[in-house]
Amino acid sequence: MRVVHDAADLVATYGCVVVPTMGALHAGHGALISRARRVAAEAGGGPVVVTVFVNPTQFGDASDLARYPRTLGEDVILSHRAGADVVFAPPVGVVYPAGAPVPAPALPAVADGPGLEDARRPGHFAGVCQVVRRLFELVRPSAAVFGEKDWQQLQVIRAMTAEQGLGVRIVDAPTVREAGDLAMSSRNRFLSASDRRRGLAISASLRAAGVEPTAAGAEAAMRRVLEAAGIVPDYAVVRDAETLLPVATRAAESSHLPARPCRALVAARVGPVRLIDNAAWPNPRF
Ligand code: AMP
Repeated sequence: MRVVHDAADLVATYGCVVVPTMGALHAGHGALISRARRVAAEAGGGPVVVTVFVNPTQFGDASDLARYPRTLGEDVILSHRAGADVVFAPPVGVVYPAGAPVPAPALPAVADGPGLEDARRPGHFAGVCQVVRRLFELVRPSAAVFGEKDWQQLQVIRAMTAEQGLGVRIVDAPTVREAGDLAMSSRNRFLSASDRRRGLAISASLRAAGVEPTAAGAEAAMRRVLEAAGIVPDYAVVRDAETLLPVATRAAESSHLPARPCRALVAARVGPVRLIDNAAWPNPRF
């Protein structure tokens, strides 16, 4: 496996399957890399490239950017074990060259309409779209793997890639969880033992939502579980899985409209960390 820092060293991997990350890799990223390996094999055996780049333009808060964990040596080992061929870890000047501004692409509706991450992190999706399009330009993949963990981000990237005709297949991969069902995240390392216990209420709220037959009932169930753990969520909602807009009531859907897939989504600060998670709804098995 090669580690490269310069875009010129990527020419041989054009057409690859890429896994964009900000590093501090964990088993969730490992699962994305393994998925990329399978996608590449199905497409005839091309290479898998993992990008490791902490993108400054998607952070609203300079202190969050400064304390984002950076563990390139370990990331290289994990990437190699999970089946990557190349780790591309560019310096900021390669992604955003001085004197050659990288435009932020037009945002799809799902990036600024739903009032979820878009409302809580103004400018975040503009930064995400900017860096993803730029990485696609540098790496020239045929497919890219993204996690369901960041559900709104996944919808934003799908919509941007389609609307701008970027010609990259977007592949999703399920959320990998720690014991107790806490979704793995690079930021979980900042949770104390008691925060971690309280944080289990996040996935528990999704489980409680999953067995409720109405969206309103599901949202109420989520709030109850979170409140019992002393957590005040940024949001705990059921939305259309693709547009992330509020859903019509299930009763209305069953009488006049085709049922569309829905998603329960939750975000909340627990101790020093903002946790986000989501699951299909309804979902009696989660
Ligand atoms: P990041 O952690 O922001 O570097 O995310 C890089 C990619 O990994 C994104 O596509 C995330 O959705 C994905 N990801 C992050 N955490 C998980 C997880 N627990 N399970 C699966 N994918 C994840």
